[in-house]
Amino acid sequence: MSNRKPLSAPRKAVFIDRDGTLNEMVYDETHGLMDSPRRPEQVRLMPHAAEFLRGVKALGYLAIVVTNQPGLAKGTLSERELRSVHARLAKLLKAGGAAWDDLRYCPHHPTGAPGLPAIVPTSRRVGTTAGGLRNYIGPCDCRKPKPGLLLRAAEDFAVDLRASWMVGDGLIDVQAGRRAGCRSILFTTLKVRQAERFFELEKGCPDYIAPDLNAALAIIRKNAP
Ligand SMILES: [Mg+2]
Ligand SMILES: [Zn+2]
Repeated sequence: MSNRKPLSAPRKAVFIDRDGTLNEMVYDETHGLMDSPRRPEQVRLMPHAAEFLRGVKALGYLAIVVTNQPGLAKGTLSERELRSVHARLAKLLKAGGAAWDDLRYCPHHPTGAPGLPAIVPTSRRVGTTAGGLRNYIGPCDCRKPKPGLLLRAAEDFAVDLRASWMVGDGLIDVQAGRRAGCRSILFTTLKVRQAERFFELEKGCPDYIAPDLNAALAIIRKNAP
């Protein structure tokens, strides 16, 4: 007996947001806001994160993490810090028997302006990405809600986007997923009334809403193409 799919079966993917979906957001004392983890010790998995990755892969999907990391353009995050955060995230997932197939990030920001007080002292910001900071500032096609991260990954992995999903906790995730031609799951604990406010925005209406990753997995399982 073999569970192998015929070779002709289209490849499909679940694109998964990182911050607030796979890992918890971190309270930032400087801003007084929730933000992305910048240090490995700040990385905490969201409930059911490892289970979710294992589940989507068992259903025959590639698990591809797609995340905006504009801190690189703003100078509030270095490539090295980002790598160490990803290494920690991968390690925690591995302890739960899970791994992503790929992780793609957008390092860009339209203006590069922090907008809020910088956390990293200016002296440390200069040169942290070997001149990359300036390269990362400006428009790009991969910063969600743009679909570039998904489209490029789909090309690289020969993924059928119509058979694929985007799961995330933000409106931009839903929009990126829809623009790429995927179905989308908004992962949120907002009451439907509150979430509905998004839905009138362009491509802002998710196909499904899930209160946690277990529920998201159940939706994907039930709605296999
Ligand atoms: Mg998010
Ligand atoms: Zn980008």
